[in-house]
Amino acid sequence: MVRYCLLLTALLLWTAGAYAEPSGVAQLCRKVDASVPAQRASLLDFTCYLPVPESAPYWNAQTIHELPDALTWRPAAGHELAFTQSEDYYWVRINIHNGGASPGFWYLKLDYAPLDHVEFHLDTPSEHRTIQTGDRKPFLSREIDYRYYLLPISLREGETAEVSIRLHSGGALNLPLALVTPDELVSSSNQLTLTHGLFYGALLIFAIFNLLLFVSSGTTYYFYNAFYMAGLGMFLFAMGGFAYQYLWPSNPQLANTAIPISMALCALSMNLFGRSFLELFNRKTFTSRLLTAQSVAGVTLLVLSPYLSYTIAIKTIAIVTLTVICNLFFIGIMRWRAGLTHAKWYVISWSTMVLGTISYALAAFGYLPDFLTHEIVMQAAIGSQVILLNYAMVQRWRELNLKLLEVEYSAKQKLERQVLERTAQLRKTMNQLEQANRQLEALSTRDELTGLFNRRYLDSRLQQLARESQRTGHPVALVLVDADHFKQINDRFGHGFGDSCLQSIAQVLERNTCRPRDVAARYGGEEFALILPDTDESGALRVSQAVLEDMRDTMIEAPDGSNHSLTLSAGIAILKPGEALSSTFERADQALYRAKAGGRDRAELAEPPIRSDATTKRTENAQ
Ligand code: GH3
Ligand code: MG
Ligand code: MG
Repeated sequence: MVRYCLLLTALLLWTAGAYAEPSGVAQLCRKVDASVPAQRASLLDFTCYLPVPESAPYWNAQTIHELPDALTWRPAAGHELAFTQSEDYYWVRINIHNGGASPGFWYLKLDYAPLDHVEFHLDTPSEHRTIQTGDRKPFLSREIDYRYYLLPISLREGETAEVSIRLHSGGALNLPLALVTPDELVSSSNQLTLTHGLFYGALLIFAIFNLLLFVSSGTTYYFYNAFYMAGLGMFLFAMGGFAYQYLWPSNPQLANTAIPISMALCALSMNLFGRSFLELFNRKTFTSRLLTAQSVAGVTLLVLSPYLSYTIAIKTIAIVTLTVICNLFFIGIMRWRAGLTHAKWYVISWSTMVLGTISYALAAFGYLPDFLTHEIVMQAAIGSQVILLNYAMVQRWRELNLKLLEVEYSAKQKLERQVLERTAQLRKTMNQLEQANRQLEALSTRDELTGLFNRRYLDSRLQQLARESQRTGHPVALVLVDADHFKQINDRFGHGFGDSCLQSIAQVLERNTCRPRDVAARYGGEEFALILPDTDESGALRVSQAVLEDMRDTMIEAPDGSNHSLTLSAGIAILKPGEALSSTFERADQALYRAKAGGRDRAELAEPPIRSDATTKRTENAQ
């Protein structure tokens, strides 16, 4: 890529060469009639110049009269004078005549600030004057407070002034000369002040804005961009002569070093900005190493430039800066092609900068004439670069924002999914828990063999019903049922058959307890109980008889194939409101005993409770 830059530079140098050295046959310097605006406008048709090489014996001539007469002055022939850097002295000669009918006043204007030595010699019939100035002398040596050089010329009608200018510079020599009236000077100066004011004002605002963005967002490339714009502004400010005029008018040394220093700052900041903005953080890549090397070069030149001669400093830094600009341009293209979308705007903004800088550099080094136009082109290039760069940063900010929104959206989605999954899982677990609880409850309230309620349930249910009956006064019947001669069945057919019989008894009990609140329970080996809420003696007796009858009629097949039926005995007690449960049980048990004693296969009603007993046990039930 550097090769491309060099090629481009060479091409421009070649074309510039044709311009830079005006050709033509030596001829006498003609007089320009200052009173004729058209002649003033084509001042360069009347200008002659003479390069005095370092080797010439008259190299150090102080006035035009010390130069040999035989020397051939060259006419500028309408071309602007621009010479590349050398140790030669250049003499420029213009004969200005006032062909008008009245006295006149004009300024000879030299619109290029960075010239080391400028000596104006003015010879008129009434005045001989020398102004020794240049940016190696304090600003006040110019006599007139103007960022470029002015020679005031006052001529009576018919008079002629012989003006010679002796020039020497460590940099290039651009000599944009013009002969203007005071009015013209004021109007052109006003226009320039406006454009420069707008340009530097906008640059300053952008720099401050970027600095504020850096402070508020912490994004480093805003800082580098602010730094870059400040460096760029400083460089153009120094090159344009403003810095010398306004910042350090009595320090010519600083006026000179400010140019290479600000240029090195530019190179460094654009490099750092490029690295940050194009996201070249992986230190191992070639591109990243190149950028690091460029940063090191920038810092080194920044430190060394005050100690180097102006000529060496400016040339080295110009080469480094141009290399950095070209490299960044090509790196930008590479990053764009690699898919970094905001790199597109960087490349576009950088291309205006590349073109602007190359033309400006060629003009500043004297390879292209018309420095002032190139200064404006450079300012326009920088203006559009600044706008485009800021647009590029907005694009990047937009991209980051979109990415952030995407991340936020997908995180939200993920979170919602996770919440749904967890909720479903929780619901499932709760269902399982509920089921397990139900099973546990069933296990804890049911008898395993028969599936009837167990003793624990019987007790708690009876307690509930006892409390209820105490409140409502409704009777609750407790029927204790016992299998007759069950021991014999077990002994004869074995325990397995005994268990089957117990299951048959359970079925019979369930069949005959139809009300939803009736409870059939197994509370002992072959002992069962029925709780019949809201049932009195007759009702309970009826249910018991039905159970007994059903049992009698139920045939159970024994292991040997024979069919057998069982009989049951029942004792019935009605829980009286306020009676202790133990007493009801006891009464029912006694009734059962009587049924057994009375020949079995029958149901007996218990005696009513003794009243005093009932009252004393009331508290027991309540517990
Ligand atoms: P009766 O009640 O008519 O006076 O005579 P019985 O033979 O039924 O006498 P008892 O109530 O004293 O005997 C209970 C018998 O029931 C004892 C035992 O062999 C049997 N038994 C108790 N629990 C179980 C059980 O869970 N399974 C089986 N197969 N038999 C049981
Ligand atoms: Mg028994
Ligand atoms: Mg029994």
